[in-house]
Amino acid sequence: MTNETLITQIQRFSVNDGPGFRTNIFLKGCNLKCSWCHNPETQSTDKEIYWKKRLCVQCGECLGACPLEAINPPIDPASAQEEGSTYYKIIKSRCDNCMECVEVCSYGALEAVGQAMTVEEILKEVESDMLFYKNSDGGMTISGGEPTQHKNFALKLMEAGKERGIHICLDTSGHCQWADLYALARNAEVILYDLKHLDDAIHRKLTGVSNKLILENLIHLVEIGTEIWLRIIVIPEHSISLDYHRRCIELLKSLPGEVKRIDIIPFHNWCEDKYGWLGRNWPMGELESVDPSDIQPILDHYLEAGLNATIGGSGFEKAKQIA
Ligand code: SF4
Ligand code: SF4
Repeated sequence: MTNETLITQIQRFSVNDGPGFRTNIFLKGCNLKCSWCHNPETQSTDKEIYWKKRLCVQCGECLGACPLEAINPPIDPASAQEEGSTYYKIIKSRCDNCMECVEVCSYGALEAVGQAMTVEEILKEVESDMLFYKNSDGGMTISGGEPTQHKNFALKLMEAGKERGIHICLDTSGHCQWADLYALARNAEVILYDLKHLDDAIHRKLTGVSNKLILENLIHLVEIGTEIWLRIIVIPEHSISLDYHRRCIELLKSLPGEVKRIDIIPFHNWCEDKYGWLGRNWPMGELESVDPSDIQPILDHYLEAGLNATIGGSGFEKAKQIA
């Protein structure tokens, strides 16, 4: 069984990823490529490097440290900052992620993304917040990336967490074989499950994969009585019409059991910088963020249909009582 895996972040005191205060574990590696992904650093299973060009003074220290000539030579800092500049510090095709360059950059412009951690190391961090979990019905959320891509590791983490009395949420796209999802789901108290788009063609365009497995697995999860918090993303041009959400409601009503709550998640573009730090283009271009107050009519539709829906999906009701 795998002893360690790459983690991009352990995020403490989250209130948007399950009930109460959560410690989110972001596993690195995903089998989808959602265009709006706000954690693009979790998509690749490999270590990566953020290059924050605003901090880079083009001193050239990293160039001298790189054993593989995988650093572009310094250019005028102003040209590197120019909007639309395609200059990127790392030549990815040559880089083997040795991180020598990160070590020598004294300006904080280079940052390693992805740290190998064991289950024990993760749980040590998680357990330091036990008091907050107990007082808010919170716990640990296994996220990503896609946890089912790290099935053995995620399972070990969930089982060890449960043994220590930690409430476990699983945040999954559901794009995997049912047997893999089931193995993890039976160890989770709550599943955070994404409905990215109802139409298969649009789903493929926006995420790179079909929604077939995802919809099938949603039915399976409902059948076995899992507590599901379904996240429905609202994206301009793709999933913002009331008609689209009427169809989502029809789907929810046709399921063989209850979805505990529906979180309507407005698209936002706050993560655009991260794409630049990774040397990638933000796939959503100029698309504006959705103002949560503009989608109240969508929320009203779900509420009128008797569904337990929110905008944004905070699990903070209990947590805020003790803050
Ligand atoms: S060492 Fe840091 S500041 Fe200097 S050129 Fe490299 S990335 Fe830029
Ligand atoms: S990680 Fe290593 S190989 Fe890659 S650019 Fe930095 S020094 Fe060069």
